[in-house]
Amino acid sequence: MRSLTAEDVERAADRIAPHVLRTPMIAAEGRLAGRAAPLHLKLEQLQPTGSFKLRGATNAVLQLSAAQRRAGVVTASSGNHGPALARAASRLGVRCVVCLSQMVPANKVDNVRRNGGEARIAGKDYDEAVAESKRLECKHGLVRVHAFDDPGVIAGAGTVAREILEDLADARTILVPLSGGGLLGGMALYAKARAPRVRIVGVSMARGASMIESLRAGGPVEISEEPTIADALGGNIGLDNRWTLALVRDLVDEVMTVSEEDIARAMRVLFEDQGLVVEGAGAVGVAALLAGTSPAPDGPAVAVLTGRNVAPDRHRSVICGA
Ligand SMILES: *Cc1c(COP(=O)(O)O)cnc(C)c1O
Repeated sequence: MRSLTAEDVERAADRIAPHVLRTPMIAAEGRLAGRAAPLHLKLEQLQPTGSFKLRGATNAVLQLSAAQRRAGVVTASSGNHGPALARAASRLGVRCVVCLSQMVPANKVDNVRRNGGEARIAGKDYDEAVAESKRLECKHGLVRVHAFDDPGVIAGAGTVAREILEDLADARTILVPLSGGGLLGGMALYAKARAPRVRIVGVSMARGASMIESLRAGGPVEISEEPTIADALGGNIGLDNRWTLALVRDLVDEVMTVSEEDIARAMRVLFEDQGLVVEGAGAVGVAALLAGTSPAPDGPAVAVLTGRNVAPDRHRSVICGA
């Protein structure tokens, strides 16, 4: 198997540039500013479809052969990869089927449909949705584009690191939300090759941190998926994990978890002090800083805000402290 390099991330950046937003990075204000070192927020939640996942999905779809485009694509999604793949595919006239478990919030199912995908509710958790996507791959000859354990998706996600380092060459610490590890692995791949002094930190929710458990165990383990405010971080890395576990294990400096309360507080502070609507999964980096889980950075730090797809009612109840 060919290995992934920073050049793959650079090629991905050129490939996807016409199709994705080059997101702004802003200085943190209010309770997030004035700490030991400046904090910057990379606003990936502004991406079309509402999450960074458009990068990886677009990079994967643009590399399909003509025959694969005719066949169509299928995936399983915890809610943000699905709409991203649907948008990338439908813009090229490619059919896209997205398998979502019953745990996926309704706003995310709608987001698949709004972006031209066929949403299929299958299974009680992410793993069962993955099984359904594999079944459809075999039965209908659809091309499966995994949400994170796919070299095209990883290289596309890694382009976030390239933009951060272009905008802030002296970045010292980058905090990255962590689920399957496509984003963290891709960003670490690029950053460690191009700016090795940068500390790359992965943050998961304490409730069901599959990658972190797998790192501890020395191989992929399965844990049960629980409801969490960071729903987009749910699901296992897969016992058949090929790419992301090795990338995260070899290249990432540190991983940590945050509680549901810490995530809710970060969503509140981002809204009240910055006017930003960020879903739970996108707020975990800020949560780690506010809670002191991540030690105060010793130089300019960046938190990647990965998504905004939280239903308005749910967001309101978090903001109101319910
Ligand atoms: C998918 C997702 C993540 C985690 O990405 P992985 O590549 O699975 O680690 C983080 N935040 C949001 C909003 C996501 O949708």
